[in-house]
Amino acid sequence: MTMESTLVTARAQLRRAVELLELSENDWQTLSTPRRILEVAVPLRRDNGNVEMYKGFRVQYSTTRGPSKGGVRFHPQIDMDETVALAMLMTWKCALTNLPYGGAKGGIAVDHHTLSLSENERLTRRYTSEILPIIGPERDIPAPDVGTDERNMAWMMDTYSVNAGFSVPGVVTGKPIVLGGSLGRTSATGDGVAISAIEALRVRAIDPKGATVAIQGFGKVGYWAAMALENLGLKVVAVSDVNGGVTGFSSVAQLWEYYQSNGNIGMPGTDKLTQDELLHLDVDVLIPAALADSITEKSASGIQARIVVEGANAPTTPGGDKILEEKNILVVPDILANSGGVIVSYFEWVQDKQNYFWTADEVKQNLNDIMMRTFKEVEHMATEKKVTWREAAHMIGVSRVAEAHKLRGLYP
Ligand code: NAD
Repeated sequence: MTMESTLVTARAQLRRAVELLELSENDWQTLSTPRRILEVAVPLRRDNGNVEMYKGFRVQYSTTRGPSKGGVRFHPQIDMDETVALAMLMTWKCALTNLPYGGAKGGIAVDHHTLSLSENERLTRRYTSEILPIIGPERDIPAPDVGTDERNMAWMMDTYSVNAGFSVPGVVTGKPIVLGGSLGRTSATGDGVAISAIEALRVRAIDPKGATVAIQGFGKVGYWAAMALENLGLKVVAVSDVNGGVTGFSSVAQLWEYYQSNGNIGMPGTDKLTQDELLHLDVDVLIPAALADSITEKSASGIQARIVVEGANAPTTPGGDKILEEKNILVVPDILANSGGVIVSYFEWVQDKQNYFWTADEVKQNLNDIMMRTFKEVEHMATEKKVTWREAAHMIGVSRVAEAHKLRGLYP
């Protein structure tokens, strides 16, 4: 999907925020430079005895406001530039939501569909041991992202703990509940996307009851967002995965059930859609929840949705953004819309530190509080400064990191 570099998009967004905040060229230098970049070779012994080499990455973009935090992606197209871009976005996201974290990202250039379960485990453990010196609950805390899930987090936690000599649940988030995971983490990003969609509908004075939604991506973010929105009374009319889209299903729950048993979303009775047809549906809310660069200068012109809620990271290129703005489409930017995941990851880390676990209601309430507060701040900034919501969200996040830099000063 990546045609324009995600790093170009992320740097353009930062440049704009620096201009709007009237920060100096020195500030730009400090803010646009990742702090630590690690590339590792990850050897994997395949089940047939062959050994293959994979590239692994970990980028700690910022640690100014606390330990760095960010997902681990298993995807054949991940490279260092994309990892830097995603780590940069994590930095602004954590600052925007006021979590005591910097930003990070990591991953392995591998198609996880080609791995057996035991190969996936060996690859995850070896990657963890390669990046071990720079991660830890006080240094850098990985989490799941595209192509990884709670099983990978369990293996990462175990590998780190075996080397430490004792159990360290706080080294990763998104773990299984029995290993110190948090209730509500699995659905948190999708729940946050749903909160964002409801708030955006309020801003545009559209009744959520019966409002229509199309979602690109039916993974951890897309599926849970679809479920949450359906439960709130919206009508999810189309979803897609890597192989294309479908419309004409009666409920998301039914489609998910079919997907679980058949491994594809082509349920009998549904109609097929291409990715572009899904993006161009006449719906109230469009949710890109797959990969970067799906809304480009080319694809944006056909978008008819009133609102775009970015479940994915960097799904809109600067060219696509310009067209959405011209069409007066309200865009809830990624660093706000998908922040539910890192917010509940933060709750998980806090619970692990305290060895005291919250109820599902406590998690839900606290997630809602932080998202609503952040939403109001962004809405207020956008109105006051007459800027887009993306610009407003970046201004808040970037200004907090810039201020923290100034207050800490430069060592030595
Ligand atoms: P996932 O691996 O669980 O799901 C990805 C989905 O996208 C799958 O349904 C896949 O089939 C689909 N997909 C892949 N390539 C596609 C393409 N070219 N066209 C259409 N669909 C395609 O990943 P996820 O965790 O749901 O992450 C999705 C996005 O959300 C990523 O950008 C990720 O960085 C972002 N995100 C995830 C979380 C989280 O907690 N998982 C948090 C914040 C942001």
